[in-house]
Amino acid sequence: MGNRIPEETIEEIRNKVDIVDVISEYVQLKKQGRNYFGLCPFHGEKTPSFSVSADKQIYHCFGCGSGGNVFSFLMNIENCSFTEAAAILAKKLHIDLTINNDANHFSGKSNDFAEMFHAHDLLQKLYHHFLVNTKEGNEAIQYLLKRGFTEETINRFHIGYAPNSWNTAAKFLERRGFNLYEMIKAGLISRRESDGSYFDRFRHRIMFPIWDNQGRTIAFGGRILDEGEPKYLNSPETKIFNKSKTLYGLHLARPEVRKKQQVILFEGYVDVISAWRAGVGNGVASLGTSLTDEQANIIRRNADNVIICYDSDNAGVNATYRAATILNNAGCVVRVAKMPEGYDPDDYIQTFGTESFQNKVIGTSQTLMAFKIEYLRRGKNLQDEGELISYIEEVLSEISLLSKAVERDHYLRQLSDEFSISLDALKSQQNQIYRRLRKNKDISSINRNNNNNYQNTIVLKKNLLPAFHKAERIILAHMLRNEDIAYQIKEQIGCSFNIDVHNAIALFVYAFYEEGNSPNVGSLLQRIGDEQIKSIVSELAMLEININISEEELSDYIKQVLNHPKWLKIKEIEAEKLQAEKQQDIIKAAQLAMKIIEMKKELK
Ligand SMILES: [Zn+2]
Repeated sequence: MGNRIPEETIEEIRNKVDIVDVISEYVQLKKQGRNYFGLCPFHGEKTPSFSVSADKQIYHCFGCGSGGNVFSFLMNIENCSFTEAAAILAKKLHIDLTINNDANHFSGKSNDFAEMFHAHDLLQKLYHHFLVNTKEGNEAIQYLLKRGFTEETINRFHIGYAPNSWNTAAKFLERRGFNLYEMIKAGLISRRESDGSYFDRFRHRIMFPIWDNQGRTIAFGGRILDEGEPKYLNSPETKIFNKSKTLYGLHLARPEVRKKQQVILFEGYVDVISAWRAGVGNGVASLGTSLTDEQANIIRRNADNVIICYDSDNAGVNATYRAATILNNAGCVVRVAKMPEGYDPDDYIQTFGTESFQNKVIGTSQTLMAFKIEYLRRGKNLQDEGELISYIEEVLSEISLLSKAVERDHYLRQLSDEFSISLDALKSQQNQIYRRLRKNKDISSINRNNNNNYQNTIVLKKNLLPAFHKAERIILAHMLRNEDIAYQIKEQIGCSFNIDVHNAIALFVYAFYEEGNSPNVGSLLQRIGDEQIKSIVSELAMLEININISEEELSDYIKQVLNHPKWLKIKEIEAEKLQAEKQQDIIKAAQLAMKIIEMKKELK
């Protein structure tokens, strides 16, 4: 793997780290029996099949098969090298990591990444320094204070100021030895066509660092100070900044999100910051683009509930409708916070104050259905009978998508009251619509909360495996937990498992114990590079087995494994015999029949 971190340090990390803590920063985990379950961050899903074992310090997804220990989790989710994963953990655990940090140490891809992260980190500090400590930053800080920003907010969100100069950042980066060509790719500077000189991308702007989910600065948003265009300028997408996967402020919001089991989704970073001032600490924003499926999945993995708090103008309401649909499809329970027409959260807080925002906007958020009922009404003249009927049909379609009968009943009554239509008539029409939707399969999402029996499905699938295959899995599962069994299997089966990958696993296990290790799946996984093998090992480690297996039971499984090739041979001869009979070669058929009987005897 080519890491230069001493083995003792890796061991120290492995001993101190708790995989549940680390994964909890990405996935909301719930304890169920001995293990924790959550929605897999590596594939889209609505019911949790991602499991984490605190005892064994490993994870496994029964949906997509990804699995491993805490290092592999970080390498996969952060798309980083082993060394970088170790560095992340060391930082978290306050373990001194004496790897030399010069850029040469990293190779290829991670080299660029490391340099980009480093440049963003330094610039973020530089811009912040300009804002709070220098004369150049005076105008900017006055502007911010006037808009209600406090010193506390400025520090918490590391707000900065990019001076009104063409080359502050370019010179700064050059002096620090950064490759300026790489810095163009990082979106921090640009180059003049005319003379090839470098100049700053952000000038005379208030700078808002944008972080990845771990809190590393990966981009900037800059707001112009004077009149000028564009008002907001963001970093372009780069190797480290993927807009559609980033939620502004997530790492800051996470503790509050956990506590409240709720995310408040805003349109922009200024809203997140204003809301924080108003005491709303669980806000994140989708960075000005419309919400993506990936962002919705990140939200879903962190909390069950979302309140959307977008601008109340026409565009904002349309965006709310789109985001609500995406979040609902991702399995979130969605509510919508309403502000008076024409306000965004920042304006609202400026005008009506923080308490009003807490109580009247967030506190009175409406259900998704209530929002849709209003949304569908927009632009319709309900005095017109035709428009009224089409409106009611649209609402009934939405009601049909609700999974709870109580909810459907509630909104049908509301509709009945408002338009003086008999409840029975509405119910029967809603039934018709429901049947039509179901026929068109639009309603497949309707029972999304009812199919929590994924584990049963998995168990069922595995039960369909042939006996020898099951036997091999059970034997390997025991070998992972018990070195004596591993030694016994080495004697009796060695590398004669019938499934190739099982032999590979057995070899890893034999070698692991022979080096004097005691059972420890986490460390074992460390040595396995192949994803398929890792996946099976982590799955087998999660398998519920009876640890006190009897000698008899074990030898039964061993027999099934060793006999399998003989069974295959018998089947071959049976086919040959059938062929001989067809060709009326009676003597050959009889000989083969004898052979089969003998072989079967041997198996007993
Ligand atoms: Zn998965």
